[in-house]
Amino acid sequence: MQWIDSHCHSTLILDKSERTALLRMLQIQGCVGLVQGGIDPEEWDRQLELSNAPIPMARVFGLHPWALTSRTPDAIQAALSKLEHILCHADALGELGLDWAIAKTHEQRQVQKQVFAQQLELARLHRKPIVLHCVRAYSETWAILKSLPQQPEGLLHGFWTQRQNARPFIEAGYVFSLPPRIQHGDPHQLLSYLPREQIVFESDAPQKRLDGSWTTPLQALHSLQHAAQQWGEDPALTCDRQLRTLQRLFAGLMRPETS
Ligand SMILES: [Zn+2]
Repeated sequence: MQWIDSHCHSTLILDKSERTALLRMLQIQGCVGLVQGGIDPEEWDRQLELSNAPIPMARVFGLHPWALTSRTPDAIQAALSKLEHILCHADALGELGLDWAIAKTHEQRQVQKQVFAQQLELARLHRKPIVLHCVRAYSETWAILKSLPQQPEGLLHGFWTQRQNARPFIEAGYVFSLPPRIQHGDPHQLLSYLPREQIVFESDAPQKRLDGSWTTPLQALHSLQHAAQQWGEDPALTCDRQLRTLQRLFAGLMRPETS
């Protein structure tokens, strides 16, 4: 089975031999693509260094809403101007968006909204799809997106909320990337509510488990197998559908393997 992790952070594994071993293991397990989630300028540089990886990578550069809290307004603008220059090397712009769990004051939320709008403008200028990060701010996110003259293509990473929040995003054609917790239950009935052509599965790995070990992109495969079972379909079909959805969105996943 050929599968793709629709959102992970391979650059967070700093040890090169550890990363190489992980990528080899994933390749043996049938992984044919990893979509990265961009964080900040230093992390974008590390994504560029991954270009010789044995698995096709979709590079995604963007200023994560969490990266705003530690930066001065000048540092944020400097990061955005670097983003504008480096974006030609990316398949998509992200992570970008609103996180109301992190931004609690009116001022912090205004900063997130402003940087979100600036990054949306860069995505439009450079014709890049977007990778959205959204926590407790779906209606505010949609309010900003719907005011755009043209809807960008994109993926909502870590989608986990009441299904009525999904409605406008479904109609606008966004792809929903479901987190590993879907393996343990589906309280929002996302698997039955969202169109299957718009569902993909992500690991967001590496994430630390309670026992101190780290998750890997294999979580995306496990979620996919779980969903296929829930849907009563052959997992190979589920894989195929996810492959087509993601390859349409991220050109980098079509890159031939380099080693
Ligand atoms: Zn992420």
